[in-house]
Amino acid sequence: MLQQTTVQAVLPYYRRWLELFPDLMTLAHSPLQKILKAWQGLGYYQRAKNLHLAAKLIIEKFAGRIPDRYEDLSSLPGVGPYTAAAVLSIAYGQPYPVLDANVRRVVMRLAGMKEERSSKNHIILSSRLKSIFQEKIPGIFNQALMEFGALVCKPKSPRCLLCPLADFCLAFQRGEQEIIPQPKNQRCQRIEAVVAVVQEDGKYLIQKRPSSGLLADLWEFPGGKKRPGETLKEALSREIREELSTGIKGCRFLLRVQHAYTQFRVTLYAFECRLERKPKSGKRALRWITLPELRQYPFPSGSAKIIKFLEERGSARSARASIER
Ligand code: SF4
Repeated sequence: MLQQTTVQAVLPYYRRWLELFPDLMTLAHSPLQKILKAWQGLGYYQRAKNLHLAAKLIIEKFAGRIPDRYEDLSSLPGVGPYTAAAVLSIAYGQPYPVLDANVRRVVMRLAGMKEERSSKNHIILSSRLKSIFQEKIPGIFNQALMEFGALVCKPKSPRCLLCPLADFCLAFQRGEQEIIPQPKNQRCQRIEAVVAVVQEDGKYLIQKRPSSGLLADLWEFPGGKKRPGETLKEALSREIREELSTGIKGCRFLLRVQHAYTQFRVTLYAFECRLERKPKSGKRALRWITLPELRQYPFPSGSAKIIKFLEERGSARSARASIER
């Protein structure tokens, strides 16, 4: 849950998750849709699916106990070197150092390493960490270093004047703590997409995304990416024809939402429209559901903003109607 976000932002999700899935058995036997719904808003949906799969495997193969051998733990879906080291050191007291983003930053600054992306530098980083690792208290050491990175050796404005390690820190001695690690030169793809909000007899049309790839197994309003040179309405018409084998009519612009996912930024243009014919589902599952039911399905965050808009519009209309009565 904590990938690329803060503890503060994750806490409500974490608490709700534990209420819904208090133990492995409950998690393993819950439907995927309920799990994705509880995860909605956190991104990296593959992680939720992996937790679900891992819970099932732990019950089937390891008699319901989280394995305490590195090889067994690493065989579970979604468990890489970081998670395996964290679980084994914190839960089982085994001597595995954890190299998360906070620890990486601390060690890089202490060693005055600016560049970490080459494999050679990764080896140096790991060996520096091992040289300070405290094998007798692995869990406490790992948690302390992660916490130190989050609270003292922070990404921006590290608190060097209060830092007990300042005498040993090469970055501090060279005045380079603010430029280590160097920011990644990431180019974030920008996408424009169009979606059709189709309502018939008080029900909205939604479709399920494929089971693999980006935002897999989430639900969405039908639509897709705008191609270069297309107008928004042309793009919508083409997408709906491709996805539902029908044309659209009475198209009216509803709202524009923007959302930044990890890999790209999307500007989503939502149009309210009707279909010329009954839609054909093709490869994707389709469903007609009411506005309150939309809340029960897992949607990507961009679509969730459209749902919020529809709910607010619905409440405003009801309020107006009750005043006029
Ligand atoms: Fe981090 Fe500054 Fe301490 Fe170095 S002196 S470890 S940069 S907080």
